[in-house]
Amino acid sequence: MAKSKVVEKDKKNELDNQSADIELKGQSKNEESKGGKKKVIIVESPAKAKTIERILGNDYQVISSKGHIRDLPQKQFGVDLNSLKLDFEIIPGKESVVEQIKKMTSGKEVLLPSDQDREGEAIAWHLSTILGVKGKNIITFTEITERAIKEAVKNPREIDMNKVNAQLARRVLDRIVGYMISPLLWRIIKDARSAGRVQSAALKIICERERERYRFVPQKYFKVWIDIAGLKAYLTKVDGKKIKPTDITEEISKDVLQKVKSVRLVDIDVKEVRKNPPAPFITSTLQQDAASKLGFPVSKTMKIAQELYEGVDTKEGHTAFITYMRTDSTRVSDVAKEAAEKFILKNFGREYLNESSEVASKKGSKTKGKVQDAHECIRPVDVNITPEKAKELLDKDHHKLYELIWKRFIASQMSSAIYKQYSYDFESGKYVFEASIRERIFDGFEKVYTIDNEPSEKHKELKVDQEYLVEPKSAEAQTTPPDRYTEASLVKTLEMEGIGRPSTYATIIQTLLDRGYVVKKRKTLIPTILGFVVNHYLEQRFPDIVDKGFTAEMEKELDEVENGKKDWKEVVKSFLKEFNKDLERAKNEFFAIDFDTDITCEDCSGNYKLKVGKYGLYLHCPNCKTNKALKSDVFGVIDGNKLYVLEEQESQEENGEKNSVQSEESSANSGNRKFYRKRRTSGSKKSSTKSASSKAKKK
Ligand SMILES: [Zn+2]
Repeated sequence: MAKSKVVEKDKKNELDNQSADIELKGQSKNEESKGGKKKVIIVESPAKAKTIERILGNDYQVISSKGHIRDLPQKQFGVDLNSLKLDFEIIPGKESVVEQIKKMTSGKEVLLPSDQDREGEAIAWHLSTILGVKGKNIITFTEITERAIKEAVKNPREIDMNKVNAQLARRVLDRIVGYMISPLLWRIIKDARSAGRVQSAALKIICERERERYRFVPQKYFKVWIDIAGLKAYLTKVDGKKIKPTDITEEISKDVLQKVKSVRLVDIDVKEVRKNPPAPFITSTLQQDAASKLGFPVSKTMKIAQELYEGVDTKEGHTAFITYMRTDSTRVSDVAKEAAEKFILKNFGREYLNESSEVASKKGSKTKGKVQDAHECIRPVDVNITPEKAKELLDKDHHKLYELIWKRFIASQMSSAIYKQYSYDFESGKYVFEASIRERIFDGFEKVYTIDNEPSEKHKELKVDQEYLVEPKSAEAQTTPPDRYTEASLVKTLEMEGIGRPSTYATIIQTLLDRGYVVKKRKTLIPTILGFVVNHYLEQRFPDIVDKGFTAEMEKELDEVENGKKDWKEVVKSFLKEFNKDLERAKNEFFAIDFDTDITCEDCSGNYKLKVGKYGLYLHCPNCKTNKALKSDVFGVIDGNKLYVLEEQESQEENGEKNSVQSEESSANSGNRKFYRKRRTSGSKKSSTKSASSKAKKK
């Protein structure tokens, strides 16, 4: 069982360090008084410290700072907007930790591991600044294994200030937006929590999808098909021209049903289709796959992945299982590639080996010695710890995620799956029906991992020119609006739009949920009315902040700071120049929340208005002057300047609950409670929403 959070403490040291709350192992008081070990490694987490200490043994003392130790002040702004001088302070509560670290490192060689990203580099920079250590004291690795750690301590490097600056710029931009906009937001919407830079762009994406769904007008169409020899052939052509399914009208359907009595098989088209193995996981794809296959929210995935990376207690000792989990690189190190190839050869055979991966690894060895992209994909640190073996070492959830990572990685190094695709064309007069099936003739990577659970269907031995008597069938269908986002599909969209980075996807979603701007129902993300109101305000007053293009551009500029192509202060200053204009206007111009709604007043025939008062959002009838509370379980869409309430309906599918375990996407689509827009009426019919109808005191 994994008990990563429980770190054994040396009793004696626990007494010594009680005040400092520092994890310290394997060092006796005697050693300390003699000067003890010469080299000290400071890491952020106790679990990581334990794994590294186990690897390096007696020459090193490994201590943990337990997360960040220095940041912008909690009670002041901390940024001089002219000079961009930053006023950092020790995070309250961390003073004693810092004192302890200072004591333990004085006169010793200090090594600071930096995860392969900006945040890790910044933490190392804060520490080295506080401790006053200079020179080559940064060590880097993407996995906490004996090979990687021993290699890392042999090759320390200097701090990469470009990386640190990119992180400082991000911190300052977020600080400016949060600190400047939030008070304005509170002035207008008392129960708004705050505004964040990247979350605001994500909120807008979610609100826009809801609006799109609301505006969506379903289109009726007909599915027309024939059943022949176990095949389902759909109408695909009329008069020699392809017809889109949604273009099949009732007229066409009726005509087919009336006229088509027999069809002739005119063509069988057979072609080979190769399904290529997926790339190994990066942060975003891991989050999506764990959501759809395991039903894990992204925050849970990241928490477990971090524990697997840092190391967990197992019956065979404290061990790390995977490489660093925040990455957008699919690169695989030569060592890992070789290990995977050996594993595949031994367990599956040569035909299962990805030919291109062999070529790639040979190429890779030629370029050895050259500086390479330091980042790597998310993969097992040892492919020989198979999911079966890991089952005995890990608890259920850790094992599930590890199994997914292991399978995806092995699959990425395997050969393509090969399918034969059979298309059967049946003709009757001007109509052509087509049936298509795929038969798998070689499983390849699908031996260990599936992308889409495609069934393999046996092809049918049919003869061209054969006539068949048929009874065409048809069913009415209608187009459906785009789905609401799930956590998985939102991460995919954020990545596609270039908003956020591997380290921020989980935080973005969590922040929107924590602030009550978005709620999660049946795994889908639904904007609340408060979320819509906040988004409306930001759209009106700070259009850049919620603009996905602008946010993506900022991310690119931060990348350029990291690559040394831009100065971080210039990036922040040019942002401030535009931002200040919006800020001045927002400060000086009156802004009121006053939306029309489609909710009918309970006391007269008028419609309520949505307003904001001392206690938050409420409904007001301008006709009879009564007020009603707006209940939190009411959902709606703000479109134009009007709030349209959505009605919750029970849907027919009863099996939504069962599906949710296997597939987030499928449960999102078949959940048994859905919100529908009210039928737009011509004005005479009015309905009041039940959920908004409880009486509230007048404000
Ligand atoms: Zn009224």
